[in-house]
Amino acid sequence: MPDKNNDAEAVLPATTPRRNPKPEIDEIGGRKLKPSTLMMGHGFDPALSEGSLKPPIFATSTFVFPSAAAGKRHFEGITGKRPGGAEGLVYSRFNGPNQEILEDRLGVWEDAEDALSFSSGMSAIATLFLAMVKPGDTIVHSGPLYAATETLIARVLGKFGVHFLDFPAGASRAEIDAVLAKANSGRVALIYLESPANPTNALVDVEAVRASRDAIWGNSEEKPPIAIDNTFLGPLWQKPLQHGAEIVVYSLTKYAGGHSDLVAGGVLGTKKHMDVIRAMRNTIGTITDPNTAWMLLRSLETLELRMTRAGENAAKVCEFLRDHPKIERVGYLGFLKDDAQADIFRRHCTGAGSTFSLYVKGGEKESFAFLDALRIAKLAVSLGGTETLASHPAAMTHLSVSDSRKQALGITDNLVRISIGVEDADDLIADFDAALKKV
Ligand SMILES: *Cc1c(COP(=O)(O)O)cnc(C)c1O
Repeated sequence: MPDKNNDAEAVLPATTPRRNPKPEIDEIGGRKLKPSTLMMGHGFDPALSEGSLKPPIFATSTFVFPSAAAGKRHFEGITGKRPGGAEGLVYSRFNGPNQEILEDRLGVWEDAEDALSFSSGMSAIATLFLAMVKPGDTIVHSGPLYAATETLIARVLGKFGVHFLDFPAGASRAEIDAVLAKANSGRVALIYLESPANPTNALVDVEAVRASRDAIWGNSEEKPPIAIDNTFLGPLWQKPLQHGAEIVVYSLTKYAGGHSDLVAGGVLGTKKHMDVIRAMRNTIGTITDPNTAWMLLRSLETLELRMTRAGENAAKVCEFLRDHPKIERVGYLGFLKDDAQADIFRRHCTGAGSTFSLYVKGGEKESFAFLDALRIAKLAVSLGGTETLASHPAAMTHLSVSDSRKQALGITDNLVRISIGVEDADDLIADFDAALKKV
């Protein structure tokens, strides 16, 4: 730090390397500030960074200790010799200022006790699993899951003697009870959910899973935590910690990042569980990098704006597509008819999202003709970006899935997946209208 800043330094506490933001303003006149307000400043004190309005990118692999004794104290916290964890920043595989600010802000959206950032959605999920399971354990999960998550559970963890049992995403309380009771003959390490499921959009009744879990395990030490992948509707339209989950998982690559220009993941929830997952992340180094964390801070400032606009656009586009003569059906959460699914939607969700399934009349030929004729929407897998994307699951993301499983999941040759962005809704409708004329 240059000499002119010596005065500022003098008023700081004897500088052990830790982020020490000024007291947070998260309430005014008894009014708790909303996440969209807190995203602009929460967790960052400009006075600690030369008055910089925005957090700098801290490109460093390690942090200087003010004394040998302070260094020892940090490591006592990191290794668990002393409770409470690390008191400051030690080494960049464990954490850094950009990641800590990101984690503070991620937690705000769901009122989580603690949050962790990761290098991808999959590294978040893998670190969660590695932290929770041991050989002989069972993971109970809803199905279908994101394809790589299914591979991780069945093939990778399977190699290490971890078992799994699943129930369909739309399962009733009685069906969930039956699967959990069956799994309870051994140690159940984790109940892992994904809702809405990809690509079926089926919703999981998180409240029913919680009630079923609690009825079986009560307050036993062996009670498995409930984790849920909230990538499709979170954090704006679904907050599963309020419905009984203890751990929420994100691919931040999607809506949270929101610009299709980064890959990252997040896990948030109860501190007790975050401590275990953090210890595993410290060991294997699956944390996000400072540059990506910084980009995510930018993204979170506009998260509510982007998701709100994308959601409104999707509602308009789906309304147009619903009655189109070349469309067989639109699988959009805003059009739920099935009573049980509509009931879960009312209890768990505050918006229908902007990712949906479109069944074109015909098969692969008609679907491909439609996809190739789109001019605004881009042909790419992924979702949640500012731009509208379209893809064909049967021929792309789910190409290697067996025919029988594809049939069970409703992944037909006429299924097109759409993720609506923040463009002008009428432009998008014009694009879809013109493309359907070419079918
Ligand atoms: C994309 C995605 C993932 C994996 O995230 P990456 O950031 O690509 O590793 C996991 N779950 C869901 C629901 C996803 O859409």
